[in-house]
Order: sequence, then structure tokens, then C-alpha cells
Amino acid sequence: MGERSFSTAAIRDGYDSSKHFYSVNPPIYQTAGFDLEDIDRTRRLWTGAEGGGIYSRVGNPTAAVLEERFASLEGGKAAVALSSGMAAISYTLLLLGEGGGNIVAASSLYGAAQLALASFYRKFGIETRFVQERNDPAAYEKLIDDDTKVVYLESISNPNIELYDIDAIANAAHRHGVPVVVDNTVATPYLYKPFEHGADITVYSATKEINGHGNTIAGLVVEKGDFPYEEKRFPYLYEKTWKLRDLKDHPRSPVEFIPGAPVIAGLKLYYTEFLGGALGSFESFLTLQGLSTLPVRLDKKIQTTRRLVEYLEKRKGVQWVRYPLAEGSAYSRLASRDFPKGPGALFSLGFDGTREQLGEFIRSLHNFSYHVNIGDVRTLITNCAENTHTELPEDLQSLADIPQNLLRVSVGLEDVQDLIEDLDQAFTKVLGG
Ligand SMILES: *Cc1c(COP(=O)(O)O)cnc(C)c1O
Repeated sequence: MGERSFSTAAIRDGYDSSKHFYSVNPPIYQTAGFDLEDIDRTRRLWTGAEGGGIYSRVGNPTAAVLEERFASLEGGKAAVALSSGMAAISYTLLLLGEGGGNIVAASSLYGAAQLALASFYRKFGIETRFVQERNDPAAYEKLIDDDTKVVYLESISNPNIELYDIDAIANAAHRHGVPVVVDNTVATPYLYKPFEHGADITVYSATKEINGHGNTIAGLVVEKGDFPYEEKRFPYLYEKTWKLRDLKDHPRSPVEFIPGAPVIAGLKLYYTEFLGGALGSFESFLTLQGLSTLPVRLDKKIQTTRRLVEYLEKRKGVQWVRYPLAEGSAYSRLASRDFPKGPGALFSLGFDGTREQLGEFIRSLHNFSYHVNIGDVRTLITNCAENTHTELPEDLQSLADIPQNLLRVSVGLEDVQDLIEDLDQAFTKVLGG
């Protein structure tokens, strides 16, 4: 049998009901610990010679189904489920940056990620070099040096919906022995598979489109499994320790513990063990449930997004629309090359009015929810400069290109005509016909 297509794999991969009392749904293993049976089995479990639960801080069977399904969907070697998208991003970058160094990053990112890169990781000796000319692959290469640990970017940037030539950027990074980490939250692997474009690790907020119902905070990290980490740049991946010993008591390193996926090994064996943050079983269950309908949800949302963009492009009161399929977008070429199913269900617009009018416009909407999440069944709207990116100092806000009048829309599953009529009445009420 050939490889399953995405829609089938999103429902079936990584789960064998015969190992779970024939339960059709992956059961919610709501337990802290697991019986170890006897002292020989416990030894096999602790050395990784046998898979199975020990304690839910370091692994849970419901989360394991999600991890296996996601690794399979992405074409990766291994995955880890964490308690949030920010845990996925920060743990991955702190691990790769262990001992200090620099990260070369695109300069328009999810607000919390951009602020963590700009200031928080500095406390751990990791400095970020933001690429000003973020559309130019050569600009990334210019900032890479012997201390660069990661090139970091988003496949569809939030909230400006910028697309980058990740194939070219990854080629440049790989010439210097540097792995590429891509936040694929907005695209999801249904629309874009970063590993097919040169990325080495993907990070996700599964809170968003993957879960899709706005009811869970969750994160995922997936490792492709063929990046040749050099010992000189990443010495800690080669450090043998007693903690990772095998059945014969030989100390091992992360590269030996999960061959091909030392980052996932490090995240599971050090970060979730010492810092916590593994995804709980109930959150894993909800994420699996959401994932199973991802393709139908995104297909419908992309149709709706196209209609809303077409409407807004012509609407008085709208200065501009940022979406790769909008007229005159600088990203239309990359959208047609890399996103045949469409470049996601998120867009932003420039509101042509005062701050007071913008507030009145948001208050006048009935079919849009005003809050900071994205990827919900509901259509959501937010003014990023005062919400998702409000913690960024002015220079970072302008580097990331988040003007005060930017309204980000995350398209939901409502009827498109209801959404258009709602926008229309709100524009008319606040700005006139
Ligand atoms: C929301 C989001 C995150 C952070 O995820 P949480 O689950 O909220 O921690 C990271 N990246 C992007 C692109 C996001 O939209």
C-alpha cells in the first residue's frame, strides 16, 4: 500500500486500536504514573529499550499518538508535544543555543516569539540578529557566522502573511552547517511541508488551526531527521551522560539516543524532564480530534478568505489588504509556487480611520470576535499593534511592520455572506457608505 494522503493520515496515522482495547478514539490516559510491573521491565523503560509510560511529565500514551501522527504527517523522524506553541519555540531555540551563540531570524514574527528573541533569550547568552531585508535569502547568509546556531522564520508570517523563499534560505544556512527552524503554525502541514523545502525542524502552536476550535493551548516540535549537526557547533548533542545510558550501562549522547533526532531526544530527556511542559492527555486528545478535520476546515476557510479579500480590496475605508492573493501582493509568485492549496486563512487590512473609529468599527461587528487567538471556528479580528504586538518596543514594531491601523482577521467557518454583510454595515456605520 502506498503512503496515505494527508486527509487519511490525519485521521489514522500513529494509532493502532488493538493496542488500546480496540477503542476507536485514542483513549485519554488521565494518569500521572504507570505501573512498572517488575524491575527488569523498569530497566528497559528507563534506557529506552522498551517504549511505554513511566510518568506523564516525561511521556503519556495519548500524547504519543499525537506525536507519532504528526511526525508521520510531516515526513519527520520524531516529534514532541508540549504545553504551548511558545514552549515549542523556546525549548527548541534554547536547546540549539545551549552554551550561547546567535540566531539569525526573520524580522516580522509572532509577537511573543519576536520579543523572546529580541530580549528574553539574551539572558541565556543567545543573541538574535534580525534580518532587515527578510525577503532576500542572501541577507540571511550575510548574518551567519561560526556562532550561529539556528536560522529561524515563519512559513506564513503572522500577521503580515509574508512568504519567504525557504528553499533558498535553507540552502544558504546549510552551506554554513546551520539548521533551519520554521514556525509552520499558520500554514499547517496541510498547506505547506517545510521539510520538503529544506527546513530541519518545525515548531507549531497547535492551539491555532491544528486544533481549530479555540479550546486548547498546545505546541509541537518535529525533527526531519537528516541534519548533520557538527560536533564543533553543537557539542552538547555529543555529550555522553549516565542519564542516557543503554541497557549495558554505557553512557550515551542525544545523537545516540534517537539516531537522527537529537533535538527531540534533548527536548524529551532534558527539557520536559527538568522544566516540565509536556502536553497533558486531555489536551492531546482535543488536538487529535481537531487535527482529523483540518483539511476540510482549511479548504472552506481559504474559499471564504478569498471572497473577503476580494470584497475588502474594493471597499472604501480599507487602505490596503495584506494577503498573497490580493492584488499587487509581492508574494503572489511564492504563493503559486509553494502554496497550491492557498496561502492560509489569515489576512490583514489597513483601516482608513482614526483610533476612535477603529474602536467603534470593532464594537459594531456582530459575527467577528475581538480577541488575540487565530485558527478558530469563529472569525476573529484584532488590532495587532495594541494586542499581539503591544509588548514590542516601537523600533521592533516598526521593523516587524505592524502599523497602528492594522486589523488582522482570522477567518472562521461562518457563512461568507454573513461576514461580508457584517463588515459592510460596520464600515457604513462608522465611516459612511
Ligand atoms: C500563537 C502562535 C504562537 C504561540 O503559540 P501558543 O500556543 O499561544 O504558545 C507561535 N507562533 C505563531 C505563528 C502563533 O500564531
